[in-house]
Amino acid sequence: MLYDFDLYVIGAGSGGVRAARFSAGFGAKVAVAESRYLGGTCVNVGCVPKKLLVYGAHFAEDFGQSQGFGWTPGEAKFDWATLIANKDREINRLNGIYRDLLVNSGVTLHEGHAKIVDPHTVEVNGKRYTAKNILITTGGWPQIPEIPGHEHAISSNQAFFLKELPKRVLVVGGGYIAVEFAGIFQGLGAETTLLYRGDLFLRGFDGAVRKHLRDELTKRGLNLQFNANIERIDKQSDGSLKVTLKDGREFEADCVLYATGRRPMLDNLGLENTGVTLDRKGFVEVDEMYQTAEPSILALGDVIGRVQLTPVALAEGMAVARRLFKPEQYRPVDYKMIPTAVFSLPNIGTVGLTEEEAREVGHEVVIYESRFRPMKLTLTECQERTLMKLVVDAKTDKVLGCHMVGPDAGEIVQGLAIALKAGATKRVFDETIAVHPTSAEEFVTMRTPVA
Ligand code: FAD
Ligand code: NDP
Repeated sequence: MLYDFDLYVIGAGSGGVRAARFSAGFGAKVAVAESRYLGGTCVNVGCVPKKLLVYGAHFAEDFGQSQGFGWTPGEAKFDWATLIANKDREINRLNGIYRDLLVNSGVTLHEGHAKIVDPHTVEVNGKRYTAKNILITTGGWPQIPEIPGHEHAISSNQAFFLKELPKRVLVVGGGYIAVEFAGIFQGLGAETTLLYRGDLFLRGFDGAVRKHLRDELTKRGLNLQFNANIERIDKQSDGSLKVTLKDGREFEADCVLYATGRRPMLDNLGLENTGVTLDRKGFVEVDEMYQTAEPSILALGDVIGRVQLTPVALAEGMAVARRLFKPEQYRPVDYKMIPTAVFSLPNIGTVGLTEEEAREVGHEVVIYESRFRPMKLTLTECQERTLMKLVVDAKTDKVLGCHMVGPDAGEIVQGLAIALKAGATKRVFDETIAVHPTSAEEFVTMRTPVA
């Protein structure tokens, strides 16, 4: 049978654009539908604008610390509207780049909501298109629990477009987004509280990292409330919000930001017209080749709920393009040793196993840790400390995990990820000559185990 397209991609986010462009580059006839914004979550309401706001928030401490180096900065004033307008301009530019990338690689772009009508047909803006394969890359959407008054809360989607910087912010959640936005709001001058339902935020990260960040954020004046959750939110006559916790305590805030995870975006996608199945958390079920239960339909990225990170969606997009149209170059995605950063202030950077994971899977481990005040701060009043940690297998000497809390942790950990992927041992780390004077050199100069 003749189809309109070899591949129809639904969603022009990180994974969809990568799969579409490379498939077209391999000679396939490809279309992509996008209902909202080119570049998807990462470009529009994720990684990129978030990082720009984190940069913005960081200036506050730079001005303060400059005095130790002889500077007398003028009175620093911050204007939220300017930051948001400049951020929007940059995102607009990136949207244009994504459009050019698609069009110049020969992909047909349909701007509109796509609905699957049958396993080989997609409908967009009232028109139907047939395809040999359909790829679902529709990403995720913030999930806010339906507590009384939840309509007064916002998600990260709205946080990027607030008209003004709220004076008092309450952030709910203990994952990446909550910790990053708490740092942004606090850095920009809002009185900020972070509420997390468990004992300690960032579940799944190394225990030492979680405690270190807790201590550093507390030093900065962030109000951390653990074992706390919201019962209800009431809007008051002056427009402010009264937040009542489950334990009866009350807080007042001008903005409540929920960052409590993301669900797969499957709204009105037409999955009922297919044999596609969902896992128990509601994400699209795929095999190791990203094929759903419907043979002509594939899915990847946040919508399959494996690892919700842009570089992972990109790698999956590449794998699918190769698998379909360049099978001789197909390589499966390696989900081990995925480096990641939390752009909190200070940053977390991490790759490999945490100490807890390493012990749990049966490694006998040797732990190296370094805690120090970075050189840059020695002429300042700032008492922030950096943490670096190595988890090493006692039997093989292989470095199983590297963890850091401190400035530029994400930048530093990217290089370490290559070493770990290559199977570096602690001895290789020890034999590596340091770059001096840097913070990163601590990773090759830790000699005495702590445990
Ligand atoms: P998406 O990028 O979400 O793209 C899906 C696209 O599909 C969207 O554009 C959507 O409009 C479109 N779509 C949905 N349904 C339809 C339909 N029916 N028809 C047509 N189009 C449709 N990851 C990192 O690696 N580093 C970070 O620093 C980072 N920061 C983040 C910060 C925030 C606040 C958030 C929310 C996420 C962040 N992420 C980060 C995660 C990252 O953004 C995602 O993992 C990544 O965007 C997933 O890519 P994707 O292709 O699966 O989906
Ligand atoms: P996460 O899954 O990382 O964290 C969700 C948090 O909300 C957890 O602390 C969870 O608690 C808590 N939570 C869940 N449900 C409730 C509830 N009903 N009431 C109170 N608390 C609740 O999700 P995020 O929204 O922070 O981010 C989504 C994903 O996006 C991340 O997992 C990450 O993959 C990606 N991302 C990556 C970034 C980066 O690379 N820098 C930045 C931002 C996002 P508990 O731990 O107890 O379950």
